[in-house]
Amino acid sequence: MTDCIFCKIVNGEIPAEVVYNGTNVTAFRDINPVAPVHILIVPSRHIDDIRDPRAFEDDVLKEMIQVANQVADMEGVAESGYRLLVNYGPDANLVVPHLHLHLIGGRPLGPMVTRQA
Ligand code: 5GP
Ligand code: ZN
Repeated sequence: MTDCIFCKIVNGEIPAEVVYNGTNVTAFRDINPVAPVHILIVPSRHIDDIRDPRAFEDDVLKEMIQVANQVADMEGVAESGYRLLVNYGPDANLVVPHLHLHLIGGRPLGPMVTRQA
């Protein structure tokens, strides 16, 4: 996808702090981290989102989760714990339409979703 920001990061066309660079999966630091560790794990080829059928081909999601666990080890949060999450659609605030897993950790993260008053 020519106009996709994460494809451009995977292809090295725009800079990012890449922490894992594999044939099928790439991981890089989020530009606007919400915790000391905030890394995005993406398929190296373009897949729109978690509902895209391509996400279920070639074990790509499985490999993304394996890479997330490996990066968590590298970042030293395997013992303290971490959160893996995927956003989809407007209510979840999906912003970048290239499938990505957020790996978040390095501090107590609190409840998964804040209750509304
Ligand atoms: P979403 O809300 O789509 O699940 O999350 C998109 C994430 O991508 C956000 O956390 C945002 O900070 C991050 N992001 C957006 N643009 C860039 C970028 O150009 N570089 C990096 N490293 N992260 C980005
Ligand atoms: Zn893309």
